[in-house]
This record gives sequence, structure tokens and C-alpha cells, in this order.
Amino acid sequence: TKSGIRSLETVELTKSFGGVTAVNKATVTFHHGKVNALIGPNGSGKTTFFNCVTGMIKPDSGQATYRGQDITGKAPHRIARAGIGRSFQLCRVFPRMTVLENMLVAVRNTSLRAQLASSRHSGDIERARGLLNRVGIDHLEHAEARNLSYGQQKLLELAGVLMGDPETIMLDEPAGGVNPALIGRIGTLVQELNAEGKTFLIVEHNMDMVMSLSDHVVVFDRGRPIADGPPSVIKTDPRVLEAYLGV
Ligand code: ADP
Repeated sequence: TKSGIRSLETVELTKSFGGVTAVNKATVTFHHGKVNALIGPNGSGKTTFFNCVTGMIKPDSGQATYRGQDITGKAPHRIARAGIGRSFQLCRVFPRMTVLENMLVAVRNTSLRAQLASSRHSGDIERARGLLNRVGIDHLEHAEARNLSYGQQKLLELAGVLMGDPETIMLDEPAGGVNPALIGRIGTLVQELNAEGKTFLIVEHNMDMVMSLSDHVVVFDRGRPIADGPPSVIKTDPRVLEAYLGV
């Protein structure tokens, strides 16, 4: 997998909060066209890493590039325009807007390419309906988002990300708090979208999901990668077992 085409890469990326170094000189490569997973024990820096590379927070030092383009410390909308869409650990939808309204708001926050495509083609509403159908919540288009189950809200958030037609999709704990049936649906969607060419970077605690979906796994411990490779190798790596057992 070392020969894979490069997607997101970081070199010695570092971010501290007061005395806590959350991400500590992390040098990481994710692969274009693959399902990449970032795993690690609680507090190992996964969310901070994610937030640094999507522009939610600025790293203290180090670099991040996306397909060779420097994205270090760039604003979230610039990073979205470079082709990266993301979801949030605690699902971000507008609770008092309907499902369809959420979709129409989502496209405003995404890439210029997607905005142009949606104004040129059949319009946002048709695209939104198509994507809601795809994630299986089209029957809820007039429901307020707050009346959806948490798993359905996560599907709505994913559909909103897809409104931007991002080349790469970052998902922060897509299975977290979601019932098993919907976890299965999210997994199937990831596989289908990947087969259509989307690259994924997924932070996830659910090991069954990570191991069954991913092509490439990066393991964080104390703010930096300690192992990377295919799931079959990661599963039996003693450093990974040690990190999880807290030895
Ligand atoms: P993970 O996502 O792997 O659970 P985090 O990135 O959330 O890890 O956290 C890594 C470390 O940084 C933890 O020790 C956490 O307490 C600390 N941390 C994260 N965000 C902040 C913040 N905004 N302020 C202070 N400390 C933080």
C-alpha cells in the first residue's frame, strides 16, 4: 500500500492545548480511491487531527497536503473546495428545519464545483431528493430533522455531505450511537460510494466496521501513528494491542 496514489498527507503535524499535545508530529499518508480508517484509543488525538486537516482548528506546526496541494491552516471552505467533505462526531443538522431544507442548506457550504453543477443541471431539489432516496430517508423529506432517529440524522448529514459531490469524504464516528441496522446501511453506502470512486477517511470506534470496510488503517496512540497497513496486518500488530490495552 506504500505505492498507493496519495490523498491526504501530513508531515509532523502538531497541535497542543495548553500543556496537552493532542497531535504530536504526526506524519500520515492516506490513499486516494481507498477506504482509509483512523483508529486509536480515546484521547489519542484522532478528532484533533481531523479538525486540523479540515480547517476547524489551526495546527501549531507541520504541514498538511491534499493531492499535493498545501492545505495547512486553510479555512474550512477552502479545504471543502479542494475536494474534501466531512461529517461531525456529534451529528450536525439543523433540528428545526425539514430534511429537504437541510439538504438545500448543505450545498451552500460546499465546493464551487458542486454549486455550479447544481445550478447548471436539474436543480438542487432533484439532486437532494435523489440523494435522500439513496440513503433511504426520502420518505422523511418534510419531517423536521429533530424528529428523526439519531441514525437517520447521521444519514441526513451524509446525504448533505454528498450534495457537495466531494472527491474525498471524512466521517467522524459514523457508527457512533447508531443502531445496528443503520450501521449496516452506512457501511453499504460507504462501499458503494467507494466503488464509484470516492475516497474515504473514517474515524471509528466500531472495530468490526473498521476491519470489514477499510483498505488501509492508521493507528494513533498519544498523538501520532504507531502502525499502518491493511486490516489483516493491523489486527495482529502487537503495538496496536498494547496501545488499546494501555500497557
Ligand atoms: P480522540 O479523538 O482520539 O479521542 P482528541 O483529539 O479528542 O482524541 O483528544 C486528544 C487529547 O487532546 C486529549 O487529551 C484531549 O483531552 C485533548 N483535547 C482535545 N481537544 C481539546 C481542547 N479543545 N482543549 C483542551 N484539550 C483538548
